[in-house]
Amino acid sequence: MTQIDSCRMQSGAALAWLNSIVGGRLSRHLLLLQSEPGYLLITLPSSDMGIYIESDCATFTQAHSELPCSHWDATTEGWQPALHPPIPAPGTDKIPFPLIERTEKGYVIHYDILGMIYWMLSRQEEVNRSDLDSHQRFPATASHAYKHGYLERPVVDEWFVILAQVVHRLWPRLELIEHTFSMIPSHDVDTPARYGFTSFGRLLFTMAGDVVRRHKPIEALQAPRIWAGSKEMLHSADPFNTFNWIMDVSEQNGITSAFYFICGRTLRSRDANYDVRHPAIRDLMRRIHARGHEIGLHPSYNTYQKPDSIVTEAQELLSICTEEGIVQREWGGRMHYLRWQTPITLYGWEQAGMAYDTTLSYADRPGFRCGTCHEYPAFDPVADKALQLRIRPLIAMECTVMAPRYMNLGSDEAALKKFVELKETCRSVRGNFALLWHNTMLERKQDRILYKNVLEA
Ligand SMILES: [Zn+2]
Repeated sequence: MTQIDSCRMQSGAALAWLNSIVGGRLSRHLLLLQSEPGYLLITLPSSDMGIYIESDCATFTQAHSELPCSHWDATTEGWQPALHPPIPAPGTDKIPFPLIERTEKGYVIHYDILGMIYWMLSRQEEVNRSDLDSHQRFPATASHAYKHGYLERPVVDEWFVILAQVVHRLWPRLELIEHTFSMIPSHDVDTPARYGFTSFGRLLFTMAGDVVRRHKPIEALQAPRIWAGSKEMLHSADPFNTFNWIMDVSEQNGITSAFYFICGRTLRSRDANYDVRHPAIRDLMRRIHARGHEIGLHPSYNTYQKPDSIVTEAQELLSICTEEGIVQREWGGRMHYLRWQTPITLYGWEQAGMAYDTTLSYADRPGFRCGTCHEYPAFDPVADKALQLRIRPLIAMECTVMAPRYMNLGSDEAALKKFVELKETCRSVRGNFALLWHNTMLERKQDRILYKNVLEA
């Protein structure tokens, strides 16, 4: 490859996108420029000083997970890490000393921080992968971050914390952007009711399950009454109707919840059992909106490779919301089953005019799939193109931590410890702890206690 072909992040769309990322994180006054060969330069328009960052052309344009990985202890050079040292340094097996060198022109950083940021945020690593799970998802276990033990570290954010210190030492009077931690709970509405929205035959089957598998004969006896009473609104006794409780808990914590609705059917066995136009769903949407919480889209199972289908389902949601007088400043959501293929899934959200997507976590392990817990503008590493869409990385789905098929930490102390660790990590880098908790996973008292404790931690 020639230098021009492989130096993607040193020019054009990728450089402009990285410039916007640096500006959004540190200061809009900073400029990211092409510099002498092998370096990118962060500078100020009025300054003849700068931060020269090594920029290696080949490493971070690779779409596999076999890159080397090293670590750097910032404290040995007098810098303050956001988390416990050392910081992972994906993409290199050599960390020189010093890594950050003071020169007469400013600073030189001998690690391709910007290339690493490009690689993590654009999800270049995942392009054209065939090592997928049974839902055709790129699994955590195949990722570089998991293999090198840093999936639970927001490496992009950790390096930005270091970069902020370098900028501050060079230009002490430059005001850097202050970010604040936030907790963002969201809820995919896969099954809004256990007994509503079903045929009578299916109801009998569910009741049999209550008796035989769940050992809840009393609930089974109530089922026909709940089923019959779910025609206009969700029945208050339906065990999956936890929406009011979820909103109560969010309001007690001064935060809002987002509820994502399935608005199409592309695989009957995997998609919702409700029609989004059903009076009970409309009633639920009106109540969510009236209480100041958010409504969003949960594109159905087989849409992740079909941008047109995501557009159609988004139009369906917006049309119902318009009919119900529901107006929101912005719209977003998450893919059902966290199904995602880089870059095609981006275009469904982009073409639907949605503001954000919050799919990107792994189903099999929690943590920082994109290396960050800060929202950022999406980038297509194949077409070399920046998008309007913003990526809001998901940090954990409840069942990833709790369910036997994934981490199997149950509903007690071990699960709480893991959720709180992740939340504290997000707080340390002043990002967002985006948490997915399904309405169906709050049936049991111990799950409600756990959820409340996570929100209050
Ligand atoms: Zn779902």
